Amino acid sequence: MIKIANVSKVFENGKTKLEAVKDISLKINKGEIFGIIGLSGAGKSTLIRCLNRLEEPTEGKIFINDLELTSLNKEDLRLARKNIGMIFQHFNLLDQKTVYENIAFPLRLEKLGKKQIDARVNQLLEYVDLKDKKNNYPSQLSGGQKQRVAIARAIANNPKILLSDEGTSALDPKTTKSILELLKKIRDEFNITIVMITHQMEVVKEICDRVAIMENGQIVEINTVENLFKNPKTKVAHSFINSLQGNVEEEIINPKNYKGKIIRLSFMGDSAKKPIVSKVIRNFNIDVNILSGNINKLHASSIGNLTLELIGEDDEINNALLFLKNESVHVEVI
Ligand code: ADP
Repeated sequence: MIKIANVSKVFENGKTKLEAVKDISLKINKGEIFGIIGLSGAGKSTLIRCLNRLEEPTEGKIFINDLELTSLNKEDLRLARKNIGMIFQHFNLLDQKTVYENIAFPLRLEKLGKKQIDARVNQLLEYVDLKDKKNNYPSQLSGGQKQRVAIARAIANNPKILLSDEGTSALDPKTTKSILELLKKIRDEFNITIVMITHQMEVVKEICDRVAIMENGQIVEINTVENLFKNPKTKVAHSFINSLQGNVEEEIINPKNYKGKIIRLSFMGDSAKKPIVSKVIRNFNIDVNILSGNINKLHASSIGNLTLELIGEDDEINNALLFLKNESVHVEVI
């Protein structure tokens, strides 16, 4: 388990002070894939770098299980960091070294024997599907292959935690998917906790169990991914969901342009199978205008959203809203 307790980070440049992370507290469970999403400059990178003290928090404490990372001296921190692997947007490979040597690097730091290193590197090469690239240099690899090398290097010492700092941001959508699948496989097989920061909702949707949304150094919303899609609370969460392909119509729905009441329905599980809209039309004296609809496929379930205009008397509309709520549909009046 990772516990972040009242962590703040202030950057001081001469007279100017910038509070990049503001009093964040958060618990991340063992084996969880936890996303931190936010726009550029929100403080995500600073926060994730505080988790392994690549960045020293100005205030607050970081615990990995029961060990307080923030209280460790240099040598103990070096030992503790063996449990925390990290991957980066631009891979950070050693350009002058082969794929084999890049993966062997953390094992050599641990002063393992030649045979042990050879066995582990070959095992990792097989795991990330790069056996044939063993003697290549990073410049001879595609972006996805480079990130596979970086992942193999990050997990070489069997860490308990893997941090991803925009690990798929430099990759095309298809390669992103394959890297996310690899990360999920690592979590499933080794029960590693993965914390990933991203500005891409596709990443969150694809593999995260829970997600925190950061804005101006603070966490403004934290939820399971299912509930975030079902019921986003903040404006920034809405805009991230709307940024997904196929969700663009919702962005242009402005209630001022309609005379009726605009509502957004979210369906999940059994409620998605019921003929709810036709029941509303039949049971209440209102007209229904469908403005947009989409389905978001999450890794464990699907969430359907439907934006409707309800036209009719207030009483009838209110009764229809009550009916919808009783049908386990999440209703939001826009
Ligand atoms: P994000 O990862 O969400 O894009 P960052 O954590 O990189 O955000 O940055 C948050 C804020 O902190 C930004 O305003 C950025 O300019 C500032 N910042 C980040 N690193 C430093 C640094 N080393 N010195 C000064 N300011 C920094």
